[in-house]
Amino acid sequence: MDWIKTYSNIIKKNLDKPDRTSKLIKLGLDVAYRYVTLFPDRKLPKSLQYLNKICLKNIKEPLSSPQNSAWVNIFAPTEFLHAMDIYPLFIEAYSSFMSGFLIEDALIDKAESAGISNTLCSFHKAFLGSGELNILKKPKMAITTSMVCDANINTFRYLSEKYDIPLYIIDIPYEYNRDSLEYVKKQLKEMAVLVEEVFDRKLDIDKLREIVIRENQTKALINEYIENLRQRCLNSTMTFELYMLFTSHVFLGREDTLKFYKMLTADIKSAPLRSGGGIFFIHLPPLFEESFKECFNFGKEFHILGCDLNYDFLDEVEYGDPFEGIAKKMILNVYNGSIERKIEALSNIIDRIEPDGIIQFCHWGCKQSIGGAGLLKDYFKRRNIPFLAVDGDVIDKRNNQHGQAKTRLEAFLEIIKRR
Ligand code: SF4
Repeated sequence: MDWIKTYSNIIKKNLDKPDRTSKLIKLGLDVAYRYVTLFPDRKLPKSLQYLNKICLKNIKEPLSSPQNSAWVNIFAPTEFLHAMDIYPLFIEAYSSFMSGFLIEDALIDKAESAGISNTLCSFHKAFLGSGELNILKKPKMAITTSMVCDANINTFRYLSEKYDIPLYIIDIPYEYNRDSLEYVKKQLKEMAVLVEEVFDRKLDIDKLREIVIRENQTKALINEYIENLRQRCLNSTMTFELYMLFTSHVFLGREDTLKFYKMLTADIKSAPLRSGGGIFFIHLPPLFEESFKECFNFGKEFHILGCDLNYDFLDEVEYGDPFEGIAKKMILNVYNGSIERKIEALSNIIDRIEPDGIIQFCHWGCKQSIGGAGLLKDYFKRRNIPFLAVDGDVIDKRNNQHGQAKTRLEAFLEIIKRR
């Protein structure tokens, strides 16, 4: 859209003025929030209109109040932050918004010119570029994990040193057993003490339990939503699958997240029956890739049935001892550990949803995603489920081979149609 291009050009012209740039970014998020509040997209079900609003609110809050915020990655145990009324700035989401604002290229170029490898994942490069440009305001601290993403520790360590803020890295073992559980639990206790010291406030254990109880109520609704996906589907776009990563991860346990899933389950129960081919994504959908947008956004012939990252831990979390419950949740996340665990979890979710085809968009620089693609291909072949693995970049639009992606997608969808 022209106005986004104009806005993007204004930001790019001001990149050497960090204060002005960060104000422009906040202004863009404010305007977007007001716009979706006043003029919700009527093509969307009510739940997704609401999701649009809360995601903008959740990204605005830490940017507007950096001194009450902490940088986190998608797997960080943010229940502790919610219990202490601290805003998490979810770095993968921040980079996605910067790509939505069409400035990811400038941020990534800045990171690369500062010596960051061009093979690093662009979710990280865009965030690092913002740090290099000092567009990001100093938060109080940062929390990350060793699990799943090999880029996290380096990004967080580098930026925490640059911004001179405390960092807590939670080391998550591959295997689940009593020792590993105690090991993670001990780290969570240490992390909670550090958060208390840094923010000068006390963790109320009952408030943490309330957050976990709400998280469990939310999980029950997510499971109910999944059961309905076998027959029905929402009129949606790939963006909303990515937005659901806010509610299925970093903002779990919050009131607005629970409200969203209540609305979502009500919407899916009254949604039209699946009439076209249902497509399930592994890891992430390529929300900026034109051929995918044409086929799946508000698609009539093909519907988006979800992406597995939103369903990486669907069990209840023990709330009596929330430290133990959250530790268990982290170790047993299906993306943690061996690829066999991930395949088993995928198999369960696919049996529940029964998609007609599965797509893995292998995001540039993401080793955990690309590394498992061959094994997943073999697995789906054995199960006779059409599977497409296509390379590209979810964030940096310059890294996509549009022609090749389009040809491969069309051939894949033709197979599904013939079935
Ligand atoms: S896409 Fe892969 S490398 Fe990038 S942040 Fe996610 S897990 Fe990490």
